[in-house]
Parts: sequence; C-alpha cells; structure tokens
Amino acid sequence: MHWKVIRFTEVSSTNDYAREIAKEVPEGTVVVAKRQTSGRGRKGRKWASPEGGLWMTAILKPRSSPEHITKLVFVGALAVVDTLARYGIPAEIKWPNDVLVGGKKIAGILTECKLNSFALLGIGLNVNNEIPEELKEQAISMAELVGKVSIEEVLQALLRSISYWYSLFKNGMHEKILQAVRLKSSVIGRNVVIIEDGEVVLEGKAIGIDESGSLLIDRSGHIERVVYGDVSLRFADQ
Ligand code: ADP
Repeated sequence: MHWKVIRFTEVSSTNDYAREIAKEVPEGTVVVAKRQTSGRGRKGRKWASPEGGLWMTAILKPRSSPEHITKLVFVGALAVVDTLARYGIPAEIKWPNDVLVGGKKIAGILTECKLNSFALLGIGLNVNNEIPEELKEQAISMAELVGKVSIEEVLQALLRSISYWYSLFKNGMHEKILQAVRLKSSVIGRNVVIIEDGEVVLEGKAIGIDESGSLLIDRSGHIERVVYGDVSLRFADQ
C-alpha cells in the first residue's frame, strides 16, 4: 500500500476529517492529528486524545460486501498488536475493537463505512500521552510500559502492519485474519457480559469467534452469537 499522510496539529476527530475528504482522495490517504478536540469511540463515547498520542484514520476503498466489511476492525486491531510487539509489549485484542495490555486499554479502533465508496479505519493509540485521571484504572500508554517513544516511528510501523493485514483482507483471506484474532483474543474462555445501550443483554462464557467475526457465547449450554455492532463487552470478573 502506498500511504500518503496528511498531518494536523488539531482536528475535531481524524475520522470526521477523513470522512469529508474520503471521496476525493485515493485509498491510502491517512489523516494524523497531534490532538483531537472531540475524539470519539463508538456511539459517540468520548475518546481522550491529548498531545503525545497517535490519533489517525486511514482511508481505504476495499469494495467489500457488507458481510466482510465488519471484519475491517480486526485489520486495525492486529496491526496495533504487531506494532506493540516490535516494542516488546505483549497485547491482546478485546473483541470487538479494543487492544489491551495487562487488562488495560492501550488502543481503540473505530471503523466507519460508506458502502461501495470508502471505509475509515480509525486508530487511537496511547503513545506518550497522559492518561486522564478518571481513566487511569482502565487505560495505559506505551510510555508507561517502555518509556517515551517516537510517535513517527510508531506510525510508520503501524502503517506497515496495516498494509500486511489489509492485503490479506483485500485478497479475501478472512479466515487467516480471524485465526490471528482468536490467537490474540483476551476474551475467549472468559465469562463476559454483553451490554447494549447501557443494559446487560447477555451473560455467559465466550467460547470463540466464528467465521463472520461474531463472538460465540455459551449461556448454560446454549450457544449465542453476538454480532459486531454497538455492543460493549465487560469481563464478568472485573
Ligand atoms: P467500549 O469500551 O464500550 O468498547 P469504545 O470502544 O466506544 O467503548 O471506547 C470509548 C471508551 O474508551 C470510553 O468510554 C472510555 O472508557 C475509554 N477511553 C477513552 N479515551 C481513552 C484513551 N485515550 N485510552 C483508553 N481508553 C479510553
């Protein structure tokens, strides 16, 4: 993939900016900002994005069917896991869209798509940034783990990893991607609670991720499929 990075000191959100330009620019255009004023997670939840972190969105044009596009989130999660491994940081994927180190969130992935047009792969990675006080229990940065690192170097490593996983994605090798996600998952084998709109909708033991990227949950012997969407997952023992 040939990446073209556009840099900003400040944007509201790299996904928002990317969405505005997505139709006019080629695939591989990447929006990076030093800070976001309204960084967000799914359902508009706030994503703290002070200076020192890596806040980026890659504009992709995969021409995938709706059935496959939901799996693009795993391209981002695997790329983050690989990048962290280069720094000696062992990370896990918390289905569907977070990357954890020692149980704490170090990165979040936010994919947004306009079918038959473009897909946005947004990645927020805590690099050298301060973690806000209220998130310290649940979030961590690379600097806390290995000391200050170059954001530019992290970006280049991340783009290389995205190229790799995205080429598999474009070539229809979804099972290979899913296999890697299963291996890196912090979820399989644990008791989890699925939350939708603030309400618990399902509780049980996560036993796998199926070929569509859905989480399989064993609810006293009955297997339920949880489709990637706006649901949140919490560990039952935390
Ligand atoms: P969920 O945790 O339900 O999957 P999202 O994926 O939408 O939620 O991410 C938003 C949540 O991530 C916020 O509600 C907050 O708890 C947490 N968060 C916000 N900023 C950061 C950050 N910089 N690092 C780690 N976690 C964060």
